[in-house]
Amino acid sequence: MKKEFNFIRFDNIEEFETWLKNKKITRKINKLQVHHMYLPDYNTWKNVDKKVYGDNRELGRTKSLDDYGKNKWHFSDNHGHFIAQHFNIFPNGKITTGRDLNSRPIGITNWNEGAICVEIYGNFDLKKDKMTKEQKESIIALYALLCKKFNLKANSKYIRPHCWFTSSGRYLGDFSLSKSAKTCPGTNFMDFGNSRSAFEKNFYPLIENYMKNKTYKSTTKMVKNISKENLNIRSSPSFTNNIITTLKPGDSLTYIDGPLTIKNSTTKMYKCKNNTYITANPHYTKIIEI
Ligand SMILES: [Zn+2]
Repeated sequence: MKKEFNFIRFDNIEEFETWLKNKKITRKINKLQVHHMYLPDYNTWKNVDKKVYGDNRELGRTKSLDDYGKNKWHFSDNHGHFIAQHFNIFPNGKITTGRDLNSRPIGITNWNEGAICVEIYGNFDLKKDKMTKEQKESIIALYALLCKKFNLKANSKYIRPHCWFTSSGRYLGDFSLSKSAKTCPGTNFMDFGNSRSAFEKNFYPLIENYMKNKTYKSTTKMVKNISKENLNIRSSPSFTNNIITTLKPGDSLTYIDGPLTIKNSTTKMYKCKNNTYITANPHYTKIIEI
């Protein structure tokens, strides 16, 4: 742990957990926002921040974001800070504080009251930064600990990404390329993306799992749709019937078993959660570890 510029850097999740436990909150918290920074991205982290801030990259960059806010929106947290967000999560998994938790953030129009704004360092749009394992682990742990502290469930009522809103603050409930304000936190966020189905199939379960078991399921394997079409998800290991839903291009879902040999077919299938099945054809799917 290090303190500088009136910000705190947590070097591991235990430090963050202890700090959060003791933090007195005077406003009601019932919203957790998910953002990526877009810029700065991993290139900035490796090539700019290292040169400018040396081994103090996290606090140096936090101070720089605070200075930016001071000049840009002049919205003080009444504790001497102007940074938009409450927490920053860096590629090495370290976390810094931002504006005071008792002050409203500047994150999502119409969804800032009662909200905690978390900015994840990097650009997680498709083909941009590949998120590190350390950063993923800190993200899941941080949201899980915030859910516990404020008694929130890990679901779409309480945890929403920026891109499920329009720029005027209308809630869409999903990412829409044409209507969303931004792609934030990225179309390939945590390798599963920013859609509602991606959050429901992956993000919320990972947070729930951490809340129960205090661990990040790093062994989770997922089937990713690498084709350009929706893939059928079926309720039995057969290609002939029982389509219950589809997996969008770029989306992933947790896989439990497979590839399984399927009766009357040369193509195999993966068994996924809740007794669902999807093709294991390598033209359409790829296994990824999150
Ligand atoms: Zn955002």
